[in-house]
Amino acid sequence: MKYPRLDIDCIKIHHNAQFLITQLSLKNISVTPVTKVFLGHPIIARYLLDAGATMLADSRIENFQKMTEAGISVSKILIRTPMLSQISSVLKHCDLSFNTEVQVVQRLSDIARQQNINHDIIILVELGDLREGIMPNRVIDFVRDIISLPNITIKGIGANLACRYGIAPDHQNMNVLSDLADEIEATFGISLEIISGGNSASIHWALNHTARTRINNLRIGEAIFLGCEPLEHENIKGLHTDAVSLTAEVIESNIKPTLPWGIRGFNAFGEKESLQDRGLVSQAILALGRQDVCVSGLKAPKGLRIVSSTSDHLILETSGRPLFVGETVTFSLDYTALLSSMSSRYIYKYFKAL
Ligand SMILES: *Cc1c(COP(=O)(O)O)cnc(C)c1O
Repeated sequence: MKYPRLDIDCIKIHHNAQFLITQLSLKNISVTPVTKVFLGHPIIARYLLDAGATMLADSRIENFQKMTEAGISVSKILIRTPMLSQISSVLKHCDLSFNTEVQVVQRLSDIARQQNINHDIIILVELGDLREGIMPNRVIDFVRDIISLPNITIKGIGANLACRYGIAPDHQNMNVLSDLADEIEATFGISLEIISGGNSASIHWALNHTARTRINNLRIGEAIFLGCEPLEHENIKGLHTDAVSLTAEVIESNIKPTLPWGIRGFNAFGEKESLQDRGLVSQAILALGRQDVCVSGLKAPKGLRIVSSTSDHLILETSGRPLFVGETVTFSLDYTALLSSMSSRYIYKYFKAL
């Protein structure tokens, strides 16, 4: 075995995807799984498709490229609005992109026309989280500006919440999106196929709302992979919460004082935490560090406490028996920890599959 290692249970991920696709379809809401946290890994993509997904979403062209090379020929949605400098590859590797800038849609149209292909877009609306999206009172003008552009089809509208400020999807903001869909259709005589109401943070709203809504799609990553919803970090009933775990190996185990000695400045990361003398403690060092994972997103098993980390070392205190050298410790991960460890080339990834 090689460490540090990220274990990914594809069967549990498959269950979670299938469960959410089924539950949300009862509410007439389709699920577009978001593969970015797994860097568009083809194994994950295949399990998501097998679970019933008909489209996949990602924020990176490179991830779509990888899927295409692996022979995955599903509809691909780019959920980060395109850079002007990447328009050709957007057209080459994605079927649909999210958009908020007239200039970008114009360029998509220009190049699509040169290549004699069509490109679908979803217009993103700002609903209060203040990341991407057109202000609601500007959306009609935006549509007017782009509606006659050749080789572009407006497939729908959407919004993203809960990412920058943790703004929750609710009756009010979801209605703004829903009403805008009606207004665009009435104003321009077009029909909008996809009204995309957000990410994992929208699941709770989607499963519990009762009023009429036009929202018929969610883009979901975190809930499928971690089984929890991001706003309150609550587990979602019916989902596995242990599909991924990270295991690292102990390289030193010792009894050490809690207070350092010598003249003290800032540490290697410009930090200087205040310290308390707790006497001698049983301390273990794991071969895992900030270059591998966002340490604040790791949860240690019972009896172990993460007390510090540097580039290559994770320091644990053990309250029960001391750890021994060569022993391994397995952590659970939050979204940030999963994202960082998937992105680290130093972490070995093991996909448990059928
Ligand atoms: C990452 C992302 C998602 C998926 O978010 P989760 O919280 O993982 O469900 C959805 N939409 C957009 C625009 C994203 O960037």
